[in-house]
Amino acid sequence: MKKRALAIVLSVFMAACMTACGDSSSASESKKDETPKADRETIYQVSLLQGLTLGDYNGSVSVKELKQKGDTGIGTFEGVNGELIMVDGTVYRAKSDGSIETAPDDETIPFANVTFFDTDEKQDISGVSSIADLKKLLDEKVEKLGRNQFYMVRVDGTFKKMHARSELKQEKPYKPLAEALKTDQREFSWDNIEGTVVALYCPQYMEDLNAAGWHLHFVSKDKKYGGHVLELDVDKAELKIDCTQGFNMQLPDTEMFPTLDLTKDQSEDIKKVETKD
Ligand SMILES: [Zn+2]
Repeated sequence: MKKRALAIVLSVFMAACMTACGDSSSASESKKDETPKADRETIYQVSLLQGLTLGDYNGSVSVKELKQKGDTGIGTFEGVNGELIMVDGTVYRAKSDGSIETAPDDETIPFANVTFFDTDEKQDISGVSSIADLKKLLDEKVEKLGRNQFYMVRVDGTFKKMHARSELKQEKPYKPLAEALKTDQREFSWDNIEGTVVALYCPQYMEDLNAAGWHLHFVSKDKKYGGHVLELDVDKAELKIDCTQGFNMQLPDTEMFPTLDLTKDQSEDIKKVETKD
């Protein structure tokens, strides 16, 4: 019995000491042991962001299936029916009024990125007063750890300000995302709110499959509010970084996907839909 306790303490200590990318297999939670290392160190992506941007909002992977690919991530739902935030294995939807609900297992997903979160590095942060400053701080981490890998990040703490958006569910025929958001994006602000930001970093070479750089979603600690982060002000938080070297993309089996024109550069449209203008 004593030996076992020591082993657990040691494994926790080792996990805390690991800083090298992806090397955190000695995780302490029992659920983690059930998943092979290769799966834990993979960013799983449903479709291309460029497919979503062109208007393929048809879901191809269920919430239940997504949960088998990770416990942490971001995305959206069939018909862009809200922003998806996955934290600690639960998939939440930030609805068009900024409120949160748990997504049903049979709902389908047109686009998402998830991974099993292992903390490779952590740091207490405070007084990071804008999304630009947070991205700058995260970029410095990435520069140190290597900019050609994927990173999933959690920022758990208190935010002086959180400005997020979600959108109204779209009806068929689907319009391109930039067009839909022109009228159907809804924005919200909360002051002094506790919660978790989940952020994904994609390397520059991913810009034809996703958006290079950072993409942030938020869910409040009480699981009442959330959305796609447009601006924030971090009061005090713990930053945790999961470095990931695998990438697994599932092409959607939707009717639209095979004939989408994915040849043109959509980086301007993507910038428009991902950031605040
Ligand atoms: Zn988003």
